[in-house]
Amino acid sequence: MDRTEEQFNNLIKTLSTTNPSVNVDKITEAYNFAKEAHGDQKRKDGSPFVSHPLAAAQIIAEMGLDEESVIAAMLHDSIEDTPVTHEDIAKKFGDEVAEIVEGVTKLTRVVYTSKEEEQMENLRKMLMAMAKDIRVIIIKIADRLHNMRTMEYQSEEKQREKALETMEIYAPIAYRLGMQKIKSELEDLSLLYLDPIGYQEIKQELDKRGKTYQEFFENTQKHIAERLHEVGVNCTVSGRVKHIYSIYRKMFGQNKEFSEIMDLYAFRVIVDDIAECYNVLGYIHEMYKPLPGYFKDYIGTPKPNMYQSLHTTVIGSEGIPFEVQIRTWDMHHTAEYGIAAHWKYKEGIKGRQADEEKFAWIRQLLESQQDSDAPDFFQTLKIDMFADEVFVFTPQGDVVNLPAGATPIDFAYSIHSEIGNNMTGATVNGRIVPFTHELQNGDIVHVITSKASHGPSRDWLNIVKSGEARNKIRQWFKRERRDENIAHGKLSFEAELKKSGLTMEDISREDVLPVVLKRLSVSTVDDMYAAIGYGGLSAQKTVNRLLEELRHAERSAEKPKPYIWNAPQKPAKPVHGVVVEGVDNCLVKFSHCCSPVPGDDVVGFITRGYGVSVHRTDCKNYIASQDKPEEVHRWIKVGWGETNGEIYDTSIQITARERSGLIMDVATILNLLKLNIKSLNARDIGDGIAMIYIEFGVRDREELSQAMRKLGGIHGVSEVKRV
Ligand code: MN
Repeated sequence: MDRTEEQFNNLIKTLSTTNPSVNVDKITEAYNFAKEAHGDQKRKDGSPFVSHPLAAAQIIAEMGLDEESVIAAMLHDSIEDTPVTHEDIAKKFGDEVAEIVEGVTKLTRVVYTSKEEEQMENLRKMLMAMAKDIRVIIIKIADRLHNMRTMEYQSEEKQREKALETMEIYAPIAYRLGMQKIKSELEDLSLLYLDPIGYQEIKQELDKRGKTYQEFFENTQKHIAERLHEVGVNCTVSGRVKHIYSIYRKMFGQNKEFSEIMDLYAFRVIVDDIAECYNVLGYIHEMYKPLPGYFKDYIGTPKPNMYQSLHTTVIGSEGIPFEVQIRTWDMHHTAEYGIAAHWKYKEGIKGRQADEEKFAWIRQLLESQQDSDAPDFFQTLKIDMFADEVFVFTPQGDVVNLPAGATPIDFAYSIHSEIGNNMTGATVNGRIVPFTHELQNGDIVHVITSKASHGPSRDWLNIVKSGEARNKIRQWFKRERRDENIAHGKLSFEAELKKSGLTMEDISREDVLPVVLKRLSVSTVDDMYAAIGYGGLSAQKTVNRLLEELRHAERSAEKPKPYIWNAPQKPAKPVHGVVVEGVDNCLVKFSHCCSPVPGDDVVGFITRGYGVSVHRTDCKNYIASQDKPEEVHRWIKVGWGETNGEIYDTSIQITARERSGLIMDVATILNLLKLNIKSLNARDIGDGIAMIYIEFGVRDREELSQAMRKLGGIHGVSEVKRV
């Protein structure tokens, strides 16, 4: 039997324990498919290429992942390295497998260059964002693990490059997914190529001590196991030496001597339930003296990556310190395989519900992250699930992080304003794209610039997704196009001014305009127009400021200047149902003092800056105004025109004898009449009398009268009148 057949049989054997429900025929089919696809391809060590996907599938099988993952692992290089297509895989093994393989292929195509830590974090995020399905990233890690295990046949340059990438990208991802075992192996394999001398130094120390302490190691393990069995604890005890890279990090990161590393040796006790964990802790502390400050309860407070165990460091018989980790089998499986372990539990639930459940635990995981001080990696998972970011590459391999939906324009401005301002086009993955093109994760974006560019277009403000790009485009208009901005700004300012019924003359008063300019932090009127033109100020806000200042100035002025109304002589059209004598389309508002409705006799008052306000002829303000010479000429004739079913706010006051259910009766009547109540306030004025104020909308006087009649009929009501 040749080597690959043996590997395959081994895989089937593993699956029979980790995933007994797996369809062996399907796995065999996948194996044959991969073998045929890769044909005569060889690995660097001369073995048939298919031995690599087989090994990746083996790693996935050992983790206990589902059937689709095992098949996808088997096929993970077939799209990239053989003529096989997505459709071929989908036809034979289903869409799910094809999607996963496609995902792994995309990750494989990403090219990394080593960067500072911030860039690394972005790369990790990008990988996660691209993976979408968590199985994609797990298979990619399995692929990388096998490649690292067989790295000795590669060139030295390739070894260093892959080792660095593994150390900086894949080991951290494995750690954060809780895959402790794989993370340690990835780190040790990487260290072997990154610092062979440091690696050997530690290995030799370990081997040296290994001989010396072999007896200690075996005795201690035996001692613990015997004692625990003696007291009736059902458990498995194993021992291990700390992995090389973690010793390396302690020695070089915390500047410690090899001999100062306390938890070089660790024993692991695996029991059936949580209560037993704490029991075992008690027995261990009885047997050995605990080192104060070394006890950690990760059962009560799990690590962000879901790791749970009790850790304690004690002094052994020879004065050698060692660590004991105590955990249940469940915790053990999670520690070894992390997220992958959870994946396994979800198998068998099919369809949508299965997806829901798959994501439910990830969501829980995300939520449990929020209070921890762990790196914000799971934020990344979140980004993936609720996609609001996109990660793309510069041609130099830097990762740029943009809001989802970002375009090449956003990209250009994130690199530099000058790049954005001189942009004439862009390519994505080598193809020319339009400015509106939506960038995807992993895209390589190249911006085409030209000194002859005319600069950004105003339309870009509607295309871009990032605040940064928008601000930089505005900046450009501010600087480069002053004359144009002034013209634009003047137009919109004047339009806004007109709407409010003011003229330039009104606002050009010495006590108004200079004050407002100062408040807007501009020094001249042109500056103000320019700011409106490029979007730094809104025309509406500017006019509002002026109005405020105008009112303020008028209030504080000792002698108000008489206001002269020059009504243009034009045919009138109704506004809000009101026709103002001789004025077309003028701003009309309804006074709150008397709330007129169509059908009332009304009169208009020319306000300063707010158009005409409409009052009832029986309004006490109108009547009082007749005695004020400075106001009397500002009253103007108005009347009702076509109202188009508009609703008018009005208010009434009801006086009634207080009783329970009164308010309810009032509300019921208004409701029956289908009148929209805006507010209703009741107040006890003493002697068992209640006053009710109601604000509501009516179409006209008739509707209002009807309502008042009905309300007047309510038991206990003595008066209903308009306010
Ligand atoms: Mn591979």
